[in-house]
This record gives sequence, structure tokens and C-alpha cells, in this order.
Amino acid sequence: MLNKDIRKHFPILQQEINGHPLVYLDSAATSQKPQQVIDAMSNYYEKDNSNVHRGVHTLGNQATEAYEGARDKVRDFINAKSREEIIFTRGTTTSLNIVAQSYGRANVGEGDEIVITHMEHHSNIIPWQQLAKEKGAVLKFIDLEEDGTITLDKVRETVTERTKIVSIMHVSNVLGTVNPIKEITEIAHANGAIMVVDGAQAAPHMKVDVQQLDCDFYAFSGHKMVGPTGIGVLYGKKELLNKMEPVEFGGEMIDFVGLYESTWKELPWKFEGGTPIIAGAVGLGAAIDYLEEIGLDNVEKHEQHLAEYAMKKMSEVEGVTIYGPLEPEKRASLITFNLNDVHPHDLATVLDMHGIAVRAGHHCCQPLMKWLDVSATARASFYIYNTEEDVDRLVDGLRIAKEYFNDVN
Ligand code: PLP
Repeated sequence: MLNKDIRKHFPILQQEINGHPLVYLDSAATSQKPQQVIDAMSNYYEKDNSNVHRGVHTLGNQATEAYEGARDKVRDFINAKSREEIIFTRGTTTSLNIVAQSYGRANVGEGDEIVITHMEHHSNIIPWQQLAKEKGAVLKFIDLEEDGTITLDKVRETVTERTKIVSIMHVSNVLGTVNPIKEITEIAHANGAIMVVDGAQAAPHMKVDVQQLDCDFYAFSGHKMVGPTGIGVLYGKKELLNKMEPVEFGGEMIDFVGLYESTWKELPWKFEGGTPIIAGAVGLGAAIDYLEEIGLDNVEKHEQHLAEYAMKKMSEVEGVTIYGPLEPEKRASLITFNLNDVHPHDLATVLDMHGIAVRAGHHCCQPLMKWLDVSATARASFYIYNTEEDVDRLVDGLRIAKEYFNDVN
């Protein structure tokens, strides 16, 4: 377990909600931010703020150094080969849309296949639906096993020589499953397809090495990894990015502009139109520093312990149904569940009355809800600042909610 003092680094966690100390179990939606990240961003605005790349004045240079320095930190964080492979975006959704609109439009034609799974987040479904409609391509889904895992046999059955793109989440934001990305990438490549990874729920929680995974694109968001909202990353292999057209035109991405023709900057800037998200990148850089000081291995161990503890404690509450694989080693640190026939929104409201924040709804995974045959679920998701006591408070809250709804019904 990580040191409980970590909690003290997060000012927001020091408050009471509805008269109870806050237990924040919604980090899969967005994580909280340590003082270090908040300070890095306010320091940037207090001392360095200026537009990047254009200025010859000192502040312009400081802002550029801060922004490009953050790119180097991201490169190290995911072990990309070069800094040109790191594109700053608004987040995972924007990153995946860039791949669909740029690589997809240029490389997918009528009758070609795009392969995804039933567990994907809407952000990794709709860009491909739109592309398939536009191009007359076929969108195919890898079937899930009963426990919500993917087998490589099913991947082999679904991916064919007509497949141009395979796009799969690294970790499910509902089932908690950790998908075998390296092996799926090998299958995609063997069939001549590229591999796109939605890493929104993986990058904050485990060591990601894009060279080891050998995926072609990897997308993630700063706000889920103790960084600010509004900044994310698209990693892409340089040889692919070099051949791709930008999707946003103007501002920072231009090289020469004529009346009827223009040219673009080199990588990575050709994909960063307009004034970039400078303070966001600085905050993301500080978030990476923070996570690396703790050590991603320690983050992973801590979360695995909490997930195991929570699975055990929550299963002891009669009426709790947990979705996804039940073996803790097969899953990440979030638990999606229902309590008898209590609507998850009602359950989350009662928990909130006791200072416990969980998410309720479809978690941007409506096709997966259909697959699970539920309209909605509750979800408790854990991060570095959570403790066994937080899990105990959740379990107490579930017992209170059970009594409350039994009484009312
Ligand atoms: N993919 C997964 C698995 C997610 O959990 C999320 C966010 O909830 C996203 C994509 C979208 O991320 P963002 O809203 O930061 O673009």
C-alpha cells in the first residue's frame, strides 16, 4: 500500500461533503489534482505565460520551453521513440477522432473492415461508425466472453485481410478488464491492419511502453492521471504521422500560407492547429513528474491491492452484483456493480449523502450496457489517494442504502 500521506497532497480531499469526510471513488471519470500540479499551472501563469513558438521575447521563450519540455516528459513516460510522435490534443476523444479522420479517411475504402469490441467507450465507437458510414466500410465487433474478457481466438476469428484498423481499449472503464494489447497488435499487423489503442484508463495506472506494445497509435487524457482537463495525447508512429494530413488548419500548424496554397509545419506541430493548450501541457508534465516520483509500479501494486480488498468486501454485501471478471489479477482498479434492483442513481444519491462519490449511469458505454443487459450501473473507481478505509466507508454506505431502500419499499 502507498503511504496514506499521499492523500494530503490533494487539497480537494481535505473537505467534508454533506457533513462527512469526502471519499472520492470516481477517478475513472476524472482524477483529483495534487498541489504540485496546481502550483505548476499557477506558476506558469504567474511567471511564464506567453504564446509559444512565435515570440522572440523572453517570456515567449520560457513558455515554449515549458510546453516543449512537457512533450519530452510525455515521450519518456510512454517510451516513444521520438518527441515528434507526441501530439498534444484535448484528450482521448480528440486523439481518436484525429486518427479516424486523418488516417481513416485516407486508408479505409468500401468493403474494408474496422474492428472494435462491445466493451468500447463511445469515444472509440462513434469515430469509427462515422468513418464506416462515409466510406461504405464494415464495422465489426469482437465478441466478449461471459466474464467480459477478450480471447485471442475471437480476435483471430474477427480480424481478416480486409481489416484496415483495429481499435481497442487497453483497460475497460466498466468491466475493469485489461486487454492483451501486444498480442492483439501482432494479430492486427499479421493481417496488414494498424492497431489503435484507447489508453484512457491504462496510462494513469500502469507503465505503458508504446514500443513494447508496438501499437501504431495510443490515446490518453491528462485529467484522469492527476493532470488538468483539456489536455491529452495522441502517440503515433512517425512513419504513419508523416504521411497523414492535419485535421485542423490555421495558427501554430502552418509553415507557409499563400492565397490559394499553404504548407504545414513538421511533426508534431502539424497536428496542433491554433494556440496550443500550453498551461494544460505544463500541468500534464507536472502530473507525470508526480506519478513518476511515486513510481508506476507502486501505483499499480497499490491499486491491485485495493481492488482485491474491495472485491472481497463488496461481495460480502448480499444483493451486490459485480460486473466483469471476478479474479482481481484480470482487472484494474474499478468495480462496476448494482445493488438488488435499486436504481444506481438512487444508490449514488444515498452514498453522496454520506460523503461518498461514485458514478452512476451508462459510463459512456451504451452498447456494453446492452451486452450486460442492464440499463445502468454504479461504479467505484480507485486511485493512489484511496485507502482501505475508503472501501470500508463504501461498504458501510451500501449497507445503509440497502436498509434505506428496503424500508422505503
Ligand atoms: N475512453 C475511455 C476508456 C474512457 O474511460 C474515457 C473517459 O471516460 C474516454 C475514452 C474519453 O476520454 P476524454 O473524455 O478525456 O476524451
